[in-house]
Amino acid sequence: MLVAIDGPAGAGKSTVARAVAGALGFTYLDTGAMYRAVALAGDRDPAGLDIAFDGDRVLLDGEDVSEAIRTPEVAQEASRRAADPAVREVLVAKQRALIAGGDYVAEGRDIATVVAPDAEVKVFLTADPAERARRRGVPVDDVNERDARDQGHGRTTLEPAPGATPVDTTGLTIDEVVAKVVDLARAVRS
Ligand code: C5P
Repeated sequence: MLVAIDGPAGAGKSTVARAVAGALGFTYLDTGAMYRAVALAGDRDPAGLDIAFDGDRVLLDGEDVSEAIRTPEVAQEASRRAADPAVREVLVAKQRALIAGGDYVAEGRDIATVVAPDAEVKVFLTADPAERARRRGVPVDDVNERDARDQGHGRTTLEPAPGATPVDTTGLTIDEVVAKVVDLARAVRS
Protein backbone atom coordinates (compact mmCIF):
# COMPACT_ATOMS: atom_id res chain seq x y z
CA MET A 1 0.00 0.00 0.00
CA LEU A 2 1.18 3.54 -0.73
CA VAL A 3 0.38 6.82 1.02
CA ALA A 4 1.43 9.68 -1.28
CA ILE A 5 2.08 13.07 0.31
CA ASP A 6 2.75 16.00 -2.01
CA GLY A 7 3.03 19.72 -1.39
CA PRO A 8 5.34 22.75 -1.42
CA ALA A 9 8.53 23.39 0.58
CA GLY A 10 7.91 23.90 4.29
CA ALA A 11 4.39 22.43 4.32
CA GLY A 12 5.55 19.82 6.84
CA LYS A 13 5.71 16.89 4.40
CA SER A 14 8.83 15.26 5.86
CA THR A 15 7.80 15.50 9.50
CA VAL A 16 4.28 14.32 8.76
CA ALA A 17 5.30 11.54 6.35
CA ARG A 18 7.87 10.17 8.80
CA ALA A 19 5.34 10.12 11.65
CA VAL A 20 2.60 8.58 9.50
CA ALA A 21 5.00 5.86 8.37
CA GLY A 22 5.85 5.15 12.02
CA ALA A 23 2.18 4.97 13.01
CA LEU A 24 1.29 2.59 10.16
CA GLY A 25 4.49 0.52 10.25
CA PHE A 26 5.31 1.60 6.68
CA THR A 27 8.66 2.71 5.23
CA TYR A 28 9.19 6.43 4.68
CA LEU A 29 10.52 7.67 1.33
CA ASP A 30 11.80 11.26 1.08
CA THR A 31 12.03 11.89 -2.67
CA GLY A 32 13.26 15.47 -2.11
CA ALA A 33 16.35 13.99 -0.46
CA MET A 34 17.11 12.22 -3.74
CA TYR A 35 16.99 15.49 -5.73
CA ARG A 36 19.17 17.07 -3.04
CA ALA A 37 21.70 14.24 -3.35
CA VAL A 38 21.87 14.81 -7.12
CA ALA A 39 22.50 18.53 -6.43
CA LEU A 40 25.25 17.71 -3.95
CA ALA A 41 26.94 15.45 -6.52
CA GLY A 42 27.46 18.47 -8.79
CA ASP A 43 27.73 17.83 -12.50
CA ARG A 44 27.89 14.06 -12.26
CA ASP A 45 25.48 11.98 -14.33
CA PRO A 46 22.56 11.11 -12.01
CA ALA A 47 22.26 7.66 -13.61
CA GLY A 48 25.70 6.79 -12.23
CA LEU A 49 24.93 7.81 -8.65
CA ASP A 50 24.16 5.35 -5.88
CA ILE A 51 21.50 7.10 -3.78
CA ALA A 52 20.26 4.95 -0.92
CA PHE A 53 18.52 5.18 2.44
CA ASP A 54 19.61 3.53 5.66
CA GLY A 55 16.78 4.20 8.07
CA ASP A 56 16.67 8.00 8.31
CA ARG A 57 20.14 8.42 6.81
CA VAL A 58 20.71 9.38 3.18
CA LEU A 59 23.71 7.78 1.47
CA LEU A 60 25.37 9.05 -1.69
CA ASP A 61 27.82 6.48 -3.08
CA GLY A 62 27.99 5.00 0.41
CA GLU A 63 28.76 8.30 2.14
CA ASP A 64 26.31 9.68 4.73
CA VAL A 65 25.12 13.03 3.31
CA SER A 66 22.07 13.42 5.58
CA GLU A 67 23.22 16.78 6.97
CA ALA A 68 25.09 18.03 3.89
CA ILE A 69 21.91 17.94 1.75
CA ARG A 70 19.92 20.15 4.17
CA THR A 71 21.55 23.52 3.49
CA PRO A 72 19.50 26.29 1.76
CA GLU A 73 22.11 26.32 -1.05
CA VAL A 74 21.61 22.61 -1.76
CA ALA A 75 17.83 23.14 -1.64
CA GLN A 76 18.03 25.82 -4.32
CA GLU A 77 20.41 23.75 -6.46
CA ALA A 78 18.13 20.71 -6.08
CA SER A 79 15.23 22.82 -7.31
CA ARG A 80 17.28 23.82 -10.37
CA ARG A 81 18.44 20.26 -11.14
CA ALA A 82 14.87 18.94 -10.67
CA ALA A 83 13.82 20.88 -13.80
CA ASP A 84 16.03 18.60 -15.93
CA PRO A 85 13.88 15.80 -17.44
CA ALA A 86 16.91 13.46 -17.51
CA VAL A 87 17.33 13.85 -13.74
CA ARG A 88 13.63 13.26 -13.13
CA GLU A 89 13.56 10.16 -15.31
CA VAL A 90 16.36 8.53 -13.32
CA LEU A 91 14.91 9.42 -9.92
CA VAL A 92 11.30 8.51 -10.73
CA ALA A 93 12.48 5.06 -11.87
CA LYS A 94 14.42 4.60 -8.62
CA GLN A 95 11.40 5.72 -6.59
CA ARG A 96 9.03 3.33 -8.37
CA ALA A 97 11.43 0.44 -7.76
CA LEU A 98 11.63 1.23 -4.05
CA ILE A 99 7.87 1.65 -3.61
CA ALA A 100 7.16 -1.64 -5.39
CA GLY A 101 9.05 -3.45 -2.63
CA GLY A 102 6.64 -2.85 0.27
CA ASP A 103 4.28 -0.51 2.10
CA TYR A 104 5.45 3.10 1.82
CA VAL A 105 4.66 6.66 2.79
CA ALA A 106 6.32 8.64 0.00
CA GLU A 107 6.55 12.42 -0.03
CA GLY A 108 7.44 14.84 -2.79
CA ARG A 109 5.66 16.90 -5.41
CA ASP A 110 4.81 14.39 -8.11
CA ILE A 111 4.08 11.20 -6.17
CA ALA A 112 0.31 11.18 -6.77
CA THR A 113 0.67 12.39 -10.36
CA VAL A 114 3.80 10.84 -11.89
CA VAL A 115 5.54 8.38 -9.57
CA ALA A 116 2.44 6.49 -8.41
CA PRO A 117 -0.88 7.82 -9.73
CA ASP A 118 -2.53 4.63 -8.43
CA ALA A 119 -1.51 5.32 -4.79
CA GLU A 120 -4.28 4.20 -2.43
CA VAL A 121 -4.07 7.41 -0.37
CA LYS A 122 -3.18 10.84 -1.79
CA VAL A 123 -2.70 13.87 0.42
CA PHE A 124 -1.80 17.43 -0.55
CA LEU A 125 -0.20 19.26 2.38
CA THR A 126 0.02 23.01 2.30
CA ALA A 127 0.41 26.07 4.55
CA ASP A 128 0.66 29.85 4.17
CA PRO A 129 3.93 30.95 2.51
CA ALA A 130 4.81 33.07 5.59
CA GLU A 131 4.33 30.06 7.84
CA ARG A 132 6.36 27.83 5.52
CA ALA A 133 9.22 30.36 5.41
CA ARG A 134 9.20 30.57 9.21
CA ARG A 135 9.36 26.77 9.51
CA ARG A 136 12.29 26.59 7.11
CA GLY A 137 14.09 29.60 8.64
CA VAL A 138 14.36 31.30 5.25
CA PRO A 139 12.94 34.57 3.85
CA VAL A 140 9.45 34.33 2.33
CA ASP A 141 10.95 35.34 -1.04
CA ASP A 142 13.01 32.15 -0.95
CA VAL A 143 9.87 30.03 -0.51
CA ASN A 144 7.98 31.91 -3.24
CA GLU A 145 10.92 31.59 -5.63
CA ARG A 146 11.16 27.84 -5.03
CA ASP A 147 7.38 27.38 -5.40
CA ALA A 148 7.51 29.13 -8.78
CA ARG A 149 10.44 26.99 -9.95
CA ASP A 150 9.02 23.72 -8.57
CA GLN A 151 6.17 23.74 -11.10
CA GLY A 152 5.96 21.65 -14.27
CA HIS A 153 6.95 18.06 -15.00
CA GLY A 154 3.66 16.86 -13.52
CA ARG A 155 4.41 18.35 -10.11
CA THR A 156 1.60 19.60 -7.91
CA THR A 157 3.41 22.21 -5.81
CA LEU A 158 0.54 24.69 -5.72
CA GLU A 159 -2.60 22.60 -6.21
CA PRO A 160 -3.68 19.07 -5.26
CA ALA A 161 -3.41 16.17 -7.71
CA PRO A 162 -6.72 14.75 -8.96
CA GLY A 163 -8.21 12.71 -6.12
CA ALA A 164 -5.84 14.09 -3.47
CA THR A 165 -7.19 15.30 -0.14
CA PRO A 166 -5.97 18.84 0.63
CA VAL A 167 -4.79 19.42 4.21
CA ASP A 168 -3.91 23.01 5.19
CA THR A 169 -1.46 22.71 8.07
CA THR A 170 -1.40 26.43 8.95
CA GLY A 171 -2.27 26.65 12.63
CA LEU A 172 -2.50 22.87 13.09
CA THR A 173 -0.14 20.91 15.30
CA ILE A 174 1.92 18.13 13.76
CA ASP A 175 -0.06 15.58 15.77
CA GLU A 176 -3.33 16.89 14.35
CA VAL A 177 -2.05 16.63 10.78
CA VAL A 178 -0.59 13.15 11.36
CA ALA A 179 -3.90 11.95 12.85
CA LYS A 180 -5.80 13.20 9.78
CA VAL A 181 -3.51 11.36 7.35
CA VAL A 182 -3.45 8.17 9.44
CA ASP A 183 -7.27 8.22 9.53
CA LEU A 184 -7.38 8.50 5.72
CA ALA A 185 -5.00 5.53 5.39
CA ARG A 186 -6.84 3.39 7.93
CA ALA A 187 -10.15 4.09 6.17
CA VAL A 188 -8.69 2.67 2.96
CA ARG A 189 -7.11 -0.32 4.66
CA SER A 190 -10.23 -1.47 6.51
O1 C5P B 1 11.17 18.57 -0.57
P1 C5P B 1 12.55 19.13 -0.68
O2 C5P B 1 12.65 20.57 -0.28
O3 C5P B 1 13.58 18.30 0.02
O4 C5P B 1 12.90 19.04 -2.24
C1 C5P B 1 14.06 19.66 -2.80
C2 C5P B 1 13.75 19.99 -4.25
O5 C5P B 1 13.63 18.80 -5.01
C3 C5P B 1 12.44 20.72 -4.47
O6 C5P B 1 12.60 22.13 -4.38
C4 C5P B 1 12.00 20.29 -5.86
O7 C5P B 1 12.55 21.12 -6.85
C5 C5P B 1 12.62 18.93 -6.02
N1 C5P B 1 11.65 17.84 -5.91
C6 C5P B 1 10.92 17.50 -7.03
N2 C5P B 1 10.08 16.43 -7.00
C7 C5P B 1 9.94 15.71 -5.87
C8 C5P B 1 10.65 16.06 -4.69
C9 C5P B 1 11.50 17.15 -4.74
O8 C5P B 1 11.02 18.17 -8.07
N3 C5P B 1 9.15 14.63 -5.87
